[in-house]
Amino acid sequence: MKSISFWPIVDQMKPLDPLHSPRFGDITTFSRLPHMPDLDGKHIDVAILGIPFDGGTTFRPGARFAPRAVRAASVLCRNYHPELNVSVYEKLAVVDGGDIAINPINIQATYKNIENHYEKILNAGAWPIAIGGDHSVLLPCLRSIGKKHGEFILVQFDAHTDTADQAWGEKYHHGTPIRRAIEEKIISGKNIFQIGIRGPLSSPDQEKYIQESGIHVLDMNTFHEVQSREIFFKTILKAAEKLPVYLTFDIDGVDPAFAPGTGTPVVGGLTSHEVLQCIRRLKGVRLIGADVVEISPTYDHAEITSLLGAALVFEFLSLMAVNKK
Ligand code: MN
Ligand code: MN
Repeated sequence: MKSISFWPIVDQMKPLDPLHSPRFGDITTFSRLPHMPDLDGKHIDVAILGIPFDGGTTFRPGARFAPRAVRAASVLCRNYHPELNVSVYEKLAVVDGGDIAINPINIQATYKNIENHYEKILNAGAWPIAIGGDHSVLLPCLRSIGKKHGEFILVQFDAHTDTADQAWGEKYHHGTPIRRAIEEKIISGKNIFQIGIRGPLSSPDQEKYIQESGIHVLDMNTFHEVQSREIFFKTILKAAEKLPVYLTFDIDGVDPAFAPGTGTPVVGGLTSHEVLQCIRRLKGVRLIGADVVEISPTYDHAEITSLLGAALVFEFLSLMAVNKK
């Protein structure tokens, strides 16, 4: 039988058609989209990027393997979002931009590369969606977003506030990106909205910092008070009328029963259905970039966590597609 390549359709920036090339076949880019590292002059709306760096983890490593695992799970993502009523790839030209070059044992060199790469994507007019990596990669992403867009809203799903000051004398790791971003004046606390926060802290000082910085926190107790939750989301939507939104999704915001493959799990979190509903509540906001981080396939079972990661990327794409004119 003659072998046929299904890739000549790259002009369309659409996933391979599973009725011609089955989902389990061919090269696993995200959702089997065209692989396109260089966007210059190409009119691409969204670039999906891997950031395989876990040199900022303080407990279980393994998030460096997430971009590959999420891409593998993403073959089951489809094209149409019924609840948001949008055909993603009819509205958006999406490509898999490959992975950002990282240095697995040098966080500063890695930060430089991420900043430069994000900047290139933004200057080419595309919205980035990153698959981490641990949450330390957020800081260079926010540096580039801030440089490009000025003031913006940050919506963060996480069990942790990521406002620690240091660990073992190191100021850059996956527990510090929010505090560093505030210190670097990339964003002010009042523009940060955190969902899913829970669990014991190292010291009461951490709570004090949150209060003083003005970060909005929807912790797990408040999440389950329907009225408080409504007010929280209305506050985001109100703020987003004027400002664009960047969404950072630490998979440990989800309960370990629904996302076991992660580095620092905390019990008592959100279900996968709850996070999907939360993201869909953001319909209409101007989403200028997003990431999903802290997936550690090494600790995953039956691809539960990678599958959720891929589904989240599809939700981000759908929000972007809704807003594309
Ligand atoms: Mn976390
Ligand atoms: Mn985090």
